[in-house]
Amino acid sequence: MILPPATLGMLGGGQLGRFFVSAAHEMGYKVWVLDPDPHSPAGLLADRHLIAAYDDYQALDEFAAGCAAVTTEFENVPADTLDYLAKFLPVHPAASAVAVCQNRIAEKSFLADNGLPHGPFAAIRNEDDIRSANAGLFPAVLKVARFGYDGKGQARVADRDEALAAFQQFKGEPCVLEKMLTLDFEVSVVLARDEAGKVQCFPVSENRHRNGILDVTIAPAQASACLRDNAQEVAERIASKLAYVGTLGVEFFVCRGELFVNEMAPRPHNSGHHTIDACDVSQYEQQVRALCGLPLARPRQHSVAVMVNLLGELWYEDGKGHGTYREPDWSLLHAVPGLRLHLYAKHHARPGRKMGHFVVTGDDAAQVLERALQARAAIGIRDE
Ligand code: ADP
Ligand code: MG
Repeated sequence: MILPPATLGMLGGGQLGRFFVSAAHEMGYKVWVLDPDPHSPAGLLADRHLIAAYDDYQALDEFAAGCAAVTTEFENVPADTLDYLAKFLPVHPAASAVAVCQNRIAEKSFLADNGLPHGPFAAIRNEDDIRSANAGLFPAVLKVARFGYDGKGQARVADRDEALAAFQQFKGEPCVLEKMLTLDFEVSVVLARDEAGKVQCFPVSENRHRNGILDVTIAPAQASACLRDNAQEVAERIASKLAYVGTLGVEFFVCRGELFVNEMAPRPHNSGHHTIDACDVSQYEQQVRALCGLPLARPRQHSVAVMVNLLGELWYEDGKGHGTYREPDWSLLHAVPGLRLHLYAKHHARPGRKMGHFVVTGDDAAQVLERALQARAAIGIRDE
């Protein structure tokens, strides 16, 4: 067991890393963050911020020498970086697990090879792969295999010609072509797994997206017990097949009552933010526990919760990214009973950038949802 006041290493400096730093600090650990951005949200809280690229081996040597164990909050950390650090100290999750989650072709192939439920897809490495793709895949979504997030690197394509045009726009980068599914709704499972293979799941959440970006999470999901059990069971199987150690997020589509795995995130997940406010252990504390070899807690959700993401366009006068740049009027949110606001201290707001979120908790699911949606409208988030 790694115990306080040991120093933990975090690769990546975004908001997920920032919440990890807070959780680790509360538990008595020190944290070093490695991230190239001098303004990174986690770097600002860290005991030490190494401002360096993920493949700066001199910085990695210093990082390894100063930390007792390393984890990540960002799935695009190069697998080579994780492998290199693992020569000197424990690294969780392992490069092999992260490598599967960071490449959509590897991820879909992993699901197919292990008999895990997924939607119809084809791996696209060249134009011929598009020409020979099953006609039943269209209309489809073409997604770049690597480095896509928050709906970026994705194009909705009606037919083969549109897919070819989108593939050219993506400069011939390897892609997956996924059948466009008609979704009943989307859910996710966040879990933690330790080195002995013990797993603890958080309750299943329902996720609503806007423009490909998570907008609202409702936790727990108002789905049937059967569907929720099934989602947790599939997520556990994924974690165990990946020999995963740490916090893992698994996103699902529900389509005609059936579950399909959409994608996995080898880190805490946006749909698990509310675990800070609504559970007796957060997904970030579980990440600390798994990394340090502490016993995982058995999460108990004590309140229903609705989380709303706050994106960068809110910082602009028209709420869409145009006009005067100004801080939203946070007093509107602080007046709402049961609402907690979390801001990430990002340097600059850009449309679509995740800048913060709020969580409303309470006992009554309908009232919590109504309060959260009213607060969402009051701060200026519009549906169009
Ligand atoms: P990201 O890495 O940006 O989260 P996702 O693959 O999860 O990418 O896509 C973002 C969102 O776009 C999904 O949560 C879903 O709402 C929608 N989406 C993606 N793929 C499909 C699909 N094949 N069918 C229907 N909707 C999809
Ligand atoms: Mg996603």
